[in-house]
Formats: sequence, structure tokens, C-alpha cells
Amino acid sequence: MATDYASEWMTDELQALRDVARRFFEREAAPQMPKWSEQRFVDREFWVKAGRLGLLCPTVPEEYGGPGGNILHQVAITEEQSHVLEKGWGNNVHSGVVTDYILRYGSKEQCQRWLPSMVEGTLIGAIAMTEPGAGSDVRAIAGRARRDGDEYVIDATKTFITNGQTADLIIVAVKLENPRDPAADPRAITLIAVEADNAGGFARGAPLRKIGQHAADTSELFFHGCRVPVGNRIGDEGSGFPALMNQMPQERLILAVNAVVQTEKAVQLTLAYTKERKVFGKPLFDQQNTRFVLAECATLARAARLFIDHCIVAHAQGRLDNKTAAMAKWWLTDVQCHVLDECVQLFGGYGYMEEYPIARMYADSRVQKIYGGANEIMKEIIARAL
Ligand SMILES: Cc1cc2nc3c(=O)[nH]c(=O)nc-3n(C[C@H](O)[C@H](O)[C@H](O)COP(=O)(O)OP(=O)(O)OC[C@H]3O[C@@H](n4cnc5c(N)ncnc54)[C@H](O)[C@@H]3O)c2cc1C
Repeated sequence: MATDYASEWMTDELQALRDVARRFFEREAAPQMPKWSEQRFVDREFWVKAGRLGLLCPTVPEEYGGPGGNILHQVAITEEQSHVLEKGWGNNVHSGVVTDYILRYGSKEQCQRWLPSMVEGTLIGAIAMTEPGAGSDVRAIAGRARRDGDEYVIDATKTFITNGQTADLIIVAVKLENPRDPAADPRAITLIAVEADNAGGFARGAPLRKIGQHAADTSELFFHGCRVPVGNRIGDEGSGFPALMNQMPQERLILAVNAVVQTEKAVQLTLAYTKERKVFGKPLFDQQNTRFVLAECATLARAARLFIDHCIVAHAQGRLDNKTAAMAKWWLTDVQCHVLDECVQLFGGYGYMEEYPIARMYADSRVQKIYGGANEIMKEIIARAL
């Protein structure tokens, strides 16, 4: 957070949670980043440690083992993670996305079965929509499931799945084949939760090698004749597409929160660096270009903060609409990438060296404009609502 500005939604309780989260990330995660970046996933023990401290699934009610918090608790944890860890740990998908699908569309029995372990960090969640041939156009997915007695049989290949290596519970988007009712809408998407431990016909690919976010677990997943009990379906048959669309504002909000924190951090790091670095006998910060660039970046960071705070409050009050969430996602990730590019330039050659956080932040940022719905899709959503 910028030092001379405090978000209006912040309370003492949320600040206390942030302090716990920050200390935990600094102590338990930051030293592990080189190892996690090398192996390309975060160790399972870290999830369990985070669970013990109450940093997972804050929105889960007490009856399912959670702390009964709200989206502000999730945002507070996300902000601290973004600040300390850069990107890497798939908690936003686990706690901010998968948990909500189960809470909102799952049955009471499913909530009881999965949520307590997700809160503990012993059951890691993922959501698998994207396929090699279908990303932006979710309706084009080729993954199929057919019903066979009390089971669904899934045939699908999914790619770019966050937490793919470690996930125990994967919500898979498929289209249902219905031989008894050929007139049924073949596009109807259904969500089925695959419990990785019990699923024959399920396999994971090796972690994908990305240009940034190296500690983030991103994988291909293969379901070939994968049998899953009918009781693992989330929501009704054919209800998957509206469910996916309903959940998008929250997913996009969380991505945008990350974008703002990274933007603010980039400005802070670059201010500190340019005040230290000497060029032509004086601090780099004293060059007019540096001052102007940083003045612009600081202004963008402040405008970004004000916009995200508006969206956070709107979402906490249940009134963040699709259009505004799309505006936040495209614009704030765009600002993040622009500011990071400017900041790297001010670091000179050091800005291109991996050991400098600004360089890693630059590489990590690029995908923000692509996932969670590409920014061009965000503009389509906004334009449709104009
Ligand atoms: C690190 C990472 C993590 C991810 N995690 C997950 C995950 O956990 N679960 C999951 O299901 N998916 C995940 N994804 C997938 C991600 O959501 C998709 O990559 C994204 O939706 C874009 O789909 P695509 O890659 O198939 O690109 P395409 O759909 O092929 O699009 C390519 C480009 O074409 C342009 N474009 C596409 N459609 C339009 C249009 N209508 N108008 C104008 N331009 C258009 C856009 O510029 C877009 O960037 C992840 C991806 C990455 C890289």
C-alpha cells in the first residue's frame, strides 16, 4: 500500500490479519522462492502452514471449518502475498476462486466433504477450463463427459492450469454427452469435481516452463476415461457456463488487486534505487526525465489504488458488475505492465538481471494481460455493456 494513503475499507482487524500474513510470507515463503522457482511449484507443507495460521479460504463459514470472513479478508491476504512474494503461490485460485464455486454452487454435503480440508491446506483446489484449442472462447471446449450409471466418464485435455501439479480437487469444465436426448444443448457446460487421489484415468503433465512466475504451478491435465461419482457434479447439469461467468468478477478483482500492489511496489523500489544510483555526478532521481517518469508512474499507481478500492468496496457490498470488473482487470493490469516497463528502464542493465526484484516483477507481470480473460475480451465485455 502507498505510505501516504490508507484505503477506507481497511479496519484494525484486517490490518492485524495483514500483519500476520506479511510476517508469515516473509518468514516462511520468501526464503523458499528460489527452490520453488526451480521445481516450479510451492511445497505442500507451505499450504498446511498457511492453513494453520488461518490464511486459507477466509470466506468459508465456521460450520465448514473456516473463519467466516468475507472478501475483504481475502483481499487483505492477497495484497500481502503480492507484496512479499511477487507471484507464485496459487492461493488466489484455491481460496478466492475454487472455494467460492463450492460454497455457491456445491451441495451441503460437498461443502462438508471438501471445505474443511481446503481451509486446513490438506486439499488443494484448481479449476480447469482452458484447453489447447479453447481459451478465450470457453464455449468451444472439446472436453466431454458421459453418464454411465452413478458415474461420469470424462475425456478432456486441459492446459495452463494453476495448481495443476499439486491440486487434489480439480473442478473440470466439460460438455455432457446425452445419448438419450440428442436434442439437448450440446454446448451446455457442466462442472465436475475430480478428486485426484481416487481418479483412474487422470494424469498430470510436467510443470509448464513459463517466462515468469516460475514458482507458480501451471500444468497440463489429462482425463482419459476418468470416472467420477455423479455426486461430484457441482450444480446442475448444463449450469456450468452461467456459473463460470458469475464467478468472473471476483477472479478479475483479485487479479486486479495483485496488479495494483505490484504497481505500487515497482514505484517504491524505483524511487529508492534512483535516489541511490549516481549518474553524471548526481542521483539518477535528479534527472528531469527520471522525476517526470516517476511522477507519472506514482500518479497512475494512485489512480489505480482509488479504482481498485472502489471495486473492492463494491464487491464487498455485492454490487461489482461484470463491466466494472472487466474495466478493472484490463486497465489495472495494463497500468501494471506499463509502469514496470518504465521502472525497468530506470534501473538500466540491473533492471534486466534476475537477481533484481524489478526484473522478476517485469517478467511476472506480462501474463496478467492474458489470463483471467485476455484484456481484449475485457474490452468486448465493456463495449457490450455500453
Ligand atoms: C500462467 C497461466 C495460468 C493460468 N491458469 C488457468 C487456470 O487455472 N485455469 C484455466 O482454466 N485457465 C488458466 N489459464 C488460461 C488462460 O485463462 C488463457 O490462457 C486465456 O483465457 C487466453 O486463452 P488462450 O491462451 O487460449 O488464448 P486465445 O483464446 O487463443 O487468445 C489469444 C489472443 O487472441 C486475442 N483474442 C481472443 N479472442 C478475441 C476476441 N474475441 N476479440 C479480440 N481479440 C481476441 C487476445 O489478444 C488473446 O490474448 C492460465 C494461463 C496462464 C498463462
